[in-house]
Amino acid sequence: MHAQSILMNDFAKQWQDTEARVLEAVREVGASGWYILGARVKEFEAALATQLGRREVIGVANGLDAIEIGLRALGLVPGQKVLTTPTSAFATTLAIVRAGGVPVFVDVDDSGLLDLELADAQLARDPSIRFVVPVHLFGHALDLTQLEALAARHGVAVIEDCCQAIGAASGGRAVGSVGKVSALSFYPTKNLGALGDGGALMTDDPETAALARRLRDYGQTARFVHEHIGLNSRLDELHAAILARAFLPKLAAWTARREAIAAAYLRGIAHPVVRPLPVPVHSQSVWHLFPVSVPPALRAAFRAHLEARQVQSNVHYPQMIPRQPALASIRYEVLGSLARAEALAASEVSLPIHPYLSDDDVARVVAAVMDFAP
Ligand SMILES: *Cc1c(COP(=O)(O)O)cnc(C)c1O
Repeated sequence: MHAQSILMNDFAKQWQDTEARVLEAVREVGASGWYILGARVKEFEAALATQLGRREVIGVANGLDAIEIGLRALGLVPGQKVLTTPTSAFATTLAIVRAGGVPVFVDVDDSGLLDLELADAQLARDPSIRFVVPVHLFGHALDLTQLEALAARHGVAVIEDCCQAIGAASGGRAVGSVGKVSALSFYPTKNLGALGDGGALMTDDPETAALARRLRDYGQTARFVHEHIGLNSRLDELHAAILARAFLPKLAAWTARREAIAAAYLRGIAHPVVRPLPVPVHSQSVWHLFPVSVPPALRAAFRAHLEARQVQSNVHYPQMIPRQPALASIRYEVLGSLARAEALAASEVSLPIHPYLSDDDVARVVAAVMDFAP
C-alpha cells in the first residue's frame, strides 16, 4: 500500500471541515442581492478589528494592494525611498514599486527576517529614507520594541507586512501594532485564507483609514466624485462572509495546531545538516511556514529524499528579490551586503505545516528528515 502524500496545504481536508458553514455564507450573500462593499464586508472588518485589537480594518482585494494603499495613505510620493527586506514574497517589493517608491534593500538576520540593527544604521546614514516595510516572515514576529524604537529615532513611517503572521506577537504585543498601517493577505495558503484573493489594512488612525477606504474604491470621496487616483481593490461580500462566518472562528484553533506541530518538529529534528532556522527572540510565532536550512549542495538531494517518502516541501524563496528580472529595469538600492539573504535563498527548505496534519503525519515528516543520510 502507498502512504498518502503529506501536502504543504490540504484544501480538501479544510473543505470537508468547513463546507457547511461556507455554503451557508454563500447562500446568504446570494440571497441578499448585494455583492460588493456591503454589510458582510463591514461585519468581517469589525470582527477582525476586535480580534486583532485595532480600531480600523479595511478589506481590500489582496495583500499586495493592502501594502500599496497603506504606503499611499501615509503620503508616499513617487521617488521616495522605502527600506525593506530582500527575502519575502515578491509582492512586498512590488507594492512599493507600484506606489511609486524606490525599494532600498537591507540584509536579513539569522532567522531570515529584516535585520533591524542594520536597518537602524542605514536609516542613520540616509535620512532621505522616510518609509520602512518590514515583513514578519514565516509567521515569526520581528522584535516590536526594537522596531518601535527605530521608527521613533528616525521619524520613519512603518508599514508592517503581516501577510504571513496574523495573530503573531512579540513580547506579548501583536504584530501590526507598531506600524501606522499594517497589511494582511487572505490568499488561500495564508494562515487565514479565503476561497480566492483577499486582503486588509489595519490602523488605529481614523483619517488614514478613511483615505484607504477611498483609495480602494476608485478614489471616490462621494458618489461620482473622484478626489484621488484610486484603485479597484474591493473585498467581495462573498469572501468577507466566508471569512467571517467559516474561517475566522477557526483561526485560533488552526494557529494552536500550527504551534503544536512546530513544537514537535523542534523537539524531533536534531540532524547534523538539516537545521530549523532560529526563531527570533521574543517572537510568539504563528508558523505560517516551517523553514529549515540545508547546505546548498545537499538541498536538491534532501528534497528528493522527502519526496521519495511522500513528503512535499518547498523553497521560500529561491531567489532574493533584487535578483528578480523585473527589477533589472527599475530603480532600487542595495545598502551593504546581502550575503545572508543570498545564503538563505540557496539553503532554505520549508517543511509541511498546516492545521490538518495528523500526529501521524508529523511523526512521518520528522522520521523522513531524520533518516536523510547524505
Ligand atoms: C502573500 C504575501 C503578500 C501578498 O499577498 P497577496 O494577497 O498574494 O497579494 C505580501 N507579503 C507577504 C510576506 C506575503 O506572504
